[in-house]
Amino acid sequence: MYRLGIDLGGTNIVASVVDENYNIISTAKRLTDCPRPADAILDDMADAAIEAIYNSGLKKEDIEAAGVGSPGAIDPQNRIVCYANNLGFVNVPMASMLKERTGIDFYLENDANAAAYGEFIAGAGKGTKDFIMITLGTGVGGGIIIDGKIYSGFNCAGGELGHTVIAVDGEMCSCGRQGCWEAYASATALIRQTKQAMIRYSDSVMWQLCENDINKVSGITAFDAMRKGDLAGKSVVDNYVKYVAVGIANNINIFQPEIICIGGGISKEGDTLIKPIEEYVNGDNYARNIPSKAKIKTALLGNDAGIIGAANICDLYK
Ligand SMILES: [Zn+2]
Repeated sequence: MYRLGIDLGGTNIVASVVDENYNIISTAKRLTDCPRPADAILDDMADAAIEAIYNSGLKKEDIEAAGVGSPGAIDPQNRIVCYANNLGFVNVPMASMLKERTGIDFYLENDANAAAYGEFIAGAGKGTKDFIMITLGTGVGGGIIIDGKIYSGFNCAGGELGHTVIAVDGEMCSCGRQGCWEAYASATALIRQTKQAMIRYSDSVMWQLCENDINKVSGITAFDAMRKGDLAGKSVVDNYVKYVAVGIANNINIFQPEIICIGGGISKEGDTLIKPIEEYVNGDNYARNIPSKAKIKTALLGNDAGIIGAANICDLYK
């Protein structure tokens, strides 16, 4: 049994054939190259899908189901991208456009939800029923699984965990609100916090780590500096961990998932990130005295989560 998943990102289109054990057996890529008309982007998505099938040595008829994880507000029932600001899409009937081009039936889901679903079936959330995935990237993405199903509210716009406020009148967020979790806990925010600390501490090891060029700061600069014993680096990491942890604790208090997993580039820090978050959360979690606790883990599938999830979205419609 083989399925096809497409991860549509702002930079790349990645299509893969996935087997029944959730292994990716072939992949084809195109550049998203936006802004472009939806028709042109859909042409490349269809080409990548057909090429991925060709690369797997299978035929189109061998593909049992297919799905796309797309940025933006998605209507999964009608399989339409209602609005995706980074792609410039408004009401794009993505599934029917892909069917015209490939003859294959596609399901559609928001990309963060597709990634959460991938981790749920094949990664950090395997074996659970209630699961949350948080992605610390350019923004803070979230996907909520309740009783084995993706939860996104009556209008499919829910699950925006990054846009819950943790500091009233705080930092400006890209969404227009102030003090959103994303404005403190995203990789973008960590880079901003690192640069601010470097400007304050001209003798910090962080300057050497980025060759005295503040534009070379990345999400790991402060972590690397901390490992070298740098106090300014440690202070950036300590504060960042607190920002991530306060949002994790909020989500545990609302949902009490069995597992909450953290993905995105910064999650590669592993226990350096997870252990202090656990400590913080265990002090702040309303259910801290109940013996069964929500576990905090790192995501296991990396960029494959979205594709594996998208390929298997069909299971939610059985
Ligand atoms: Zn926001």
